[in-house]
Amino acid sequence: MADRYLSFATGRVGARVVRRLGLPRPVELPRHRPGAPPVAGPVVLGHADGARAEKALRAVLDSCGARVEERPARPFALVFDATGVASPAQLDRLHAFFHPRVRSLATGGRVVVVGGAPEDAATAGEAAARRALDGFVRSLGKELRGGATAQLLLLAPGAERQETLESTLRFLLSARSAYVSGQTLRLAAGEPGGQPADWERPLAGRTALVTGAARGIGAAVAETLARDGARVVALDTPGQREPLTELAERLGGLAVPLDITAPEAGDLLRERLAAQPADGGGALDILVHNAGITRDRTLARMDAERWRAVLDVNLIAVERLTEALLPELGEGGRIVCTSSISGLAGNVGQTNYAASKAGLVGLVGHLAPRLAERGITVNAVAPGFVETGMTAAVPALVRMAGRRMNSLAQGGQPVDVAEAVAYLAAPASGAVSGQVLRVCGQALLGA
Ligand code: NAD
Repeated sequence: MADRYLSFATGRVGARVVRRLGLPRPVELPRHRPGAPPVAGPVVLGHADGARAEKALRAVLDSCGARVEERPARPFALVFDATGVASPAQLDRLHAFFHPRVRSLATGGRVVVVGGAPEDAATAGEAAARRALDGFVRSLGKELRGGATAQLLLLAPGAERQETLESTLRFLLSARSAYVSGQTLRLAAGEPGGQPADWERPLAGRTALVTGAARGIGAAVAETLARDGARVVALDTPGQREPLTELAERLGGLAVPLDITAPEAGDLLRERLAAQPADGGGALDILVHNAGITRDRTLARMDAERWRAVLDVNLIAVERLTEALLPELGEGGRIVCTSSISGLAGNVGQTNYAASKAGLVGLVGHLAPRLAERGITVNAVAPGFVETGMTAAVPALVRMAGRRMNSLAQGGQPVDVAEAVAYLAAPASGAVSGQVLRVCGQALLGA
């Protein structure tokens, strides 16, 4: 579905009109192109006293080929190490760093603040100062213009290492995170997982199963994982056999037409996976639960069938398939569930859908610590308004509002969710588990 307002507002006449009327001013967001440098311009690296991550941050920026400069006229990224902030008064350094620079941030620029986690703080003042970073970043995300984004990275003690930070920083600083803003990610200490030989193909040698892959976000996930080097097993309902087979053939992968709610789905999948050549450790390395449906009605008008159909596909099948496929997941396996901001904030007409999507957050939270021993991570992405067949079916007025009510003033593209999934699925993203990454342009819903 075309976003006519976006085309209008980025045109010559339209741009003038929307500026004069004070209307939302979306810009075309740059998306990742293979071979493009991960960081598109000069970076300014600042820090508060006692900063602990600066050396690691510099090493990552170096590895990305980024230019770190003191005073570029138009910085592309502003990265601030606030790991040393131990009291609210020390937050002045944050203001002193960003205030003179934020206005000159490049179009599509990036802000990343790095801090310690409030729960690891030694004093009340330190906990307050660390938590303050969250409010700062969320507000800055709402103030930035021109497709720029702001994120907060919270490091556990010991996570201040290049290997721990690199995959996350590469994602946040690059065009891969075009539709992610105002988010907080936490990085654990410990073995972060293998660094790739080639950052352009971080999933080389990995096998990924993607459910609901025939169209929309799932098709973009399959394509993006394949682009990053994975061998893709694409699953969708038997009714979608044709587009599914076409996609799998194009990606050199395998098509599995199967309804995930079928009682035998787990067994059948295990068989199909076992019959595949395994390049890595297990038969499966990456499991992406993407298939999902909506059957919207307010609760008073929702019959039991609509209620159950949504829970069946979006939550019950996910729980069952995860259990069935866990033995197939090799060391360093990755599970990514597709939640939704409706599941975080609630939404009129979606008690069934939001219950199912919130349930996934519960699943992720439970499994993450239990699977950490095997080096397996479990995370969720929570898309906001993404331009697919699912949102094209939403009534026109709701659709128009849904697109515009976020800091980037536009809907996301399926590839935006796919890039987030690919980041979480990478071997080098082992420090990120049990988290929900919103891909919503910092939607106002539940923000
Ligand atoms: P879509 O309807 O375009 O695609 C969903 C795919 O899942 C379809 O190909 C469908 O055939 C498949 N599927 C449905 N039931 C299945 C089953 N029982 N077994 C196997 N496959 C099945 O939807 P989309 O917009 O691409 O959404 C993908 C995921 O993202 C869903 O989980 C959705 O809830 C979630 N999501 C989407 C948005 C959005 O704005 N589009 C927002 C938040 C979350």
